[in-house]
Amino acid sequence: MKRSRYKEILKRPSWSPKQLAHYEQSRLRALLEHAAKNVSFYEKRLRQHGLTLRDLRRLKDLSFLPLTSMADLESDSKAFLARGVQRSECVGRCRPGESAQMLRVYLSPEENETREAIGRRIEVFNGLKGRHSCLMILPPNQIPPTSVSLGLGSWRERLLGGRRCCVPASETPPEQLRVLQRLRPACVAAPLWVLMRLAREVREDRPLRFRPRLLLSWGEPARASDREVLRETFGIAPTDVYRAWEFGTIAAECPQHNGLHINFDLVHVEIIRGERAAGPGETGEVVLTALANRTMPLIRYRVGDLATWKRDPCTCGWQGPVLEGVHGRVENAFVLPSGTFVTSRQFEDCLDQFTNVVAYRAIQTGRRKVEVLAVPGTLFQERTTQLLREKCLELLNNEVGVELRLVNELPILAGPRRQSILCKLPGVARSP
Ligand SMILES: [Zn+2]
Repeated sequence: MKRSRYKEILKRPSWSPKQLAHYEQSRLRALLEHAAKNVSFYEKRLRQHGLTLRDLRRLKDLSFLPLTSMADLESDSKAFLARGVQRSECVGRCRPGESAQMLRVYLSPEENETREAIGRRIEVFNGLKGRHSCLMILPPNQIPPTSVSLGLGSWRERLLGGRRCCVPASETPPEQLRVLQRLRPACVAAPLWVLMRLAREVREDRPLRFRPRLLLSWGEPARASDREVLRETFGIAPTDVYRAWEFGTIAAECPQHNGLHINFDLVHVEIIRGERAAGPGETGEVVLTALANRTMPLIRYRVGDLATWKRDPCTCGWQGPVLEGVHGRVENAFVLPSGTFVTSRQFEDCLDQFTNVVAYRAIQTGRRKVEVLAVPGTLFQERTTQLLREKCLELLNNEVGVELRLVNELPILAGPRRQSILCKLPGVARSP
């Protein structure tokens, strides 16, 4: 990527709200036009719903277009590729996870560079300079195959002195720590669970001999207690980043840690509650449109996360859209009959107060039915059962029935994330 182009990308966040809106609108219109003419999935979609491009002129018209999901991508991912695209000439970004099928989203090399550059802009905004090195700890299939460099292009690589390195998240914590101590990077970037595991290793074994300037964390939002552990271990609080493999870096905190700034030039973000758009402060499902991918357009795509719009602008003065927070996966939240989502974080904050409960998990099995499994500790008393039930009912607004079951241990679930809530409602029922 040319230096002048990278500089232009860096400057975009200083645009006025009017400029931001104009940019977003024009990109979106161009994308829709392109998709309607060149991508068979969207051609068919528009036809099926009796829509033409004339119906989709303004940003708010976008809501006429039906939602897309990963199931659509899985069933026929080729239908999302623009006509004439050769996959062999593109960069494929694949879905993380070892057991998952190798589902990919393709970008042209230029689009991939843009995605990388916009992703790195958050490092610059959080104080990193070109000379600073960065160590990323990534799932193995997310690591670029070519080299230690993530390929932003020649000039910046030189500035970095080739010190943009990746370590597989599958590597043992002692090995990750050894690399960290040797490289002493200015920035450490990894999913939260990896950082927490690394922090445990540092605390149990070898103290860190340096302090990174920036700690980027994603996958799930860091809790206050996680932040404290990371601050004590690394000497710096983590900066929350919201990423998705299909889209890249969607949003990230600024040094004020006061909400997540959206990368408005990479994705158009909607938050929906059923048919309508969520208002400020309301939690809903995230729907994304990739503005910088014409190779394989994803338009109004249900990414499967819950998030809340921030009520006020960020205190740093940034004029663009800001998320209050991202609250994990839709399937790890309750949805009440009134349409309110109760996130796993809210549930954990409520149940973590019970120090005499060793572990717990709640499963929503019906629109009005939640089953709570709890592993009692040694100080567990008879009346704790009653208190637990009351607290759960209060949290769930008394809208659903709560059945509490005491168990010796919780069934083990796959995946690194703590899953305190499982929502077993089918997708349609999940939408309020
Ligand atoms: Zn800010």
